[in-house]
Amino acid sequence: MQVSLAVDVGGTKMAAGLVDADGELVASASAPTPTTDDAEELFAVLAALVDAVGGDGEVVACGVGSGGPMSPGGEEVSPLNIPGWRRFPLQRRLADLTGVPTFVDNDAKALALGEGWRGAAAGERDFIAMVVSTGVGGGVVLDGRLLDGAQGNAGHIGHVIVEPEGRVCRCGGRGCLEAEASGPSIAAITGRPASEATPETVARTGTLVGRAVASVANLLDLRLAVVAGSVALGFGAPFFTAAQAELDARARLDFSAGARIVPGRLGERGPLVGAGAVAWRGIGRGVLPA
Ligand SMILES: [Zn+2]
Repeated sequence: MQVSLAVDVGGTKMAAGLVDADGELVASASAPTPTTDDAEELFAVLAALVDAVGGDGEVVACGVGSGGPMSPGGEEVSPLNIPGWRRFPLQRRLADLTGVPTFVDNDAKALALGEGWRGAAAGERDFIAMVVSTGVGGGVVLDGRLLDGAQGNAGHIGHVIVEPEGRVCRCGGRGCLEAEASGPSIAAITGRPASEATPETVARTGTLVGRAVASVANLLDLRLAVVAGSVALGFGAPFFTAAQAELDARARLDFSAGARIVPGRLGERGPLVGAGAVAWRGIGRGVLPA
């Protein structure tokens, strides 16, 4: 059986898995991301995970979803939450390790591919998938294609402006969605972690996410937003109700009215299914509807 080797690189954990051509995750292993400044120690954890899941099936490609920023194609990654990797040559190192074609992309874009393949956007040609968690990111599928953009950063919905006079964002701007709705931003605004947010905070966060999605729906002529991430999924139904109400109020064009905002469906499998999709896409095996 042909499989892709899927790799998920995150600030709290790293994971590897095997994803078959139908998007089934057939093996997986994970480990905490070490808190170290030693780039090789970090890579050794990843290499051990790759080793742990190997053996079953014929690995035809490797796909990676990683936190950014990164250079185009992931040739050099500098994940914000992994200080030990700055301009780390992740693509080349994994290609050397695995001996198969290796493709690296932003983790939110990987998730968009995964949700479009086997999740809440399956069968859809036009949607945005986003993560509301420690950060806020996203990936856009339009006309059945994942958008890359000039430097691979298309879909960065975390820096759409939702409060013009809002908080200063770590990007240097002000009032970005990420500066108002990420877990750390919510904690900074309210003085308590997002997991203990009041109903008012949950509703406000949902409203702001819905506001950003409305702009995207109007801009790009799409009618579906899939939202994952620990903050959004932790808040649950009241968050999605508030987001949908704001989206209904602000997406009013003929083509954007009726746009829907729904929870991601892949759950904990999402990052690896998405990374597997990056691999299959890389070798020209489409995972989205033609
Ligand atoms: Zn920003």
